[in-house]
Amino acid sequence: MRRRHRAWARIDLAAFRANLATAQKAAGRARVWPVLKANAYGHGARRLALACADEGVARIGVGDSGEALELREAGVRVPLLVLGTVIDAELPALLRHDIEVGVHSEGRARALGAFARTQSSRLGVHLKIDTGMTRLGVLPEAALRVAQAIADEPGLELRGVMTHFAARDGIHDPRTHEQQRCFQGCIRQLRDAGISIPAVHGANSAALFSGLQPLGDAVRPGIALLGILPAQLAPEIPLQPVLSLHAQIVFLKDIPADQPVGYGGDWISHRPTRLATLPIGYADGVPYRLGSSGRGTVLVRGQRCPVVGAISMDYCTIDVGHVRGVEVGDTVTLIGRDGAAMLNAQEVADAAGTIPYEITCSIGARVQRVYHDAAPHPAEERQSAPLPAP
Ligand SMILES: *Cc1c(COP(=O)(O)O)cnc(C)c1O
Repeated sequence: MRRRHRAWARIDLAAFRANLATAQKAAGRARVWPVLKANAYGHGARRLALACADEGVARIGVGDSGEALELREAGVRVPLLVLGTVIDAELPALLRHDIEVGVHSEGRARALGAFARTQSSRLGVHLKIDTGMTRLGVLPEAALRVAQAIADEPGLELRGVMTHFAARDGIHDPRTHEQQRCFQGCIRQLRDAGISIPAVHGANSAALFSGLQPLGDAVRPGIALLGILPAQLAPEIPLQPVLSLHAQIVFLKDIPADQPVGYGGDWISHRPTRLATLPIGYADGVPYRLGSSGRGTVLVRGQRCPVVGAISMDYCTIDVGHVRGVEVGDTVTLIGRDGAAMLNAQEVADAAGTIPYEITCSIGARVQRVYHDAAPHPAEERQSAPLPAP
């Protein structure tokens, strides 16, 4: 078989759509606003945002202004919310492209409003309340004052009030309940003061899928839409992995026992064996730690193979001595399924001492994203994998 790419990430759009539907079911009457920051956690924000638009989502969250503008450029007309902070230089483009921003301080709110007025325009904003994440956001005791300032500012339009939960396991962590209570209190206070709030939103994937209630008007899942969620959080929820990561074998080499392999000779063969070289390295998102932890694993012909030696920038090596019939050109799976064998992003993250978010976000630009809208048989896929757009 001849693959078209050295290394590629297969993105299953049908799985993404299914996860969106699953999230919508879990959200009940709240709307799902997908969070597609950091290039949709490495999956490719443009294509996923267009899929979201097809599915009729009402709003998409992004990490910064550049990501929002990239989606506008790709033809995404859905309302976009920059969840992080913006800087002054970005304001003209944000206004021009009707992009909403999160507001994290009173000073920021005033500056945004003043600028919008100079353009005879209005900027849509979401007030972010820090209920315990202790990162961005106004403190609960300042929430009413800042909300009032936004309401009184003709250059701003309050489109929502939000918070963000810190716990990794949602409602299984008592801090989530504390944050929720605090948030509900702030919302009541704002409403009692006569401030009209078009949308209240808080839940991320962990909060949504662990069963947080009430969810307010919208939820903001990111990682769960990509089919990655700690199994204990939602054991019955059928989320499907969206990304699989592959490379093809470009070189095979038989080596004797006692042969040091790779930079530093960190790994030494203890028996004669066969090594395969993969054209994917740490610049492409293979964690360097996988080489030194001794726990790196990939799949070849349905079998697990250890990563051996240090991961290089562009390459890594694996031991295929136990796999029959290996050839140059064989597909290697670094994340995903191969026959009965499966390696998910969580396992790779565990082996590298990190979290799955970092694993998928780190997949580099050289790795071709190949999008599939249904799930064809692997044999069919071999012939139909499209060439990258010019
Ligand atoms: C990243 C992010 C989310 C989504 O978090 P997941 O854990 O991926 O579901 C939601 N809200 C905000 C403000 C975020 O930064």
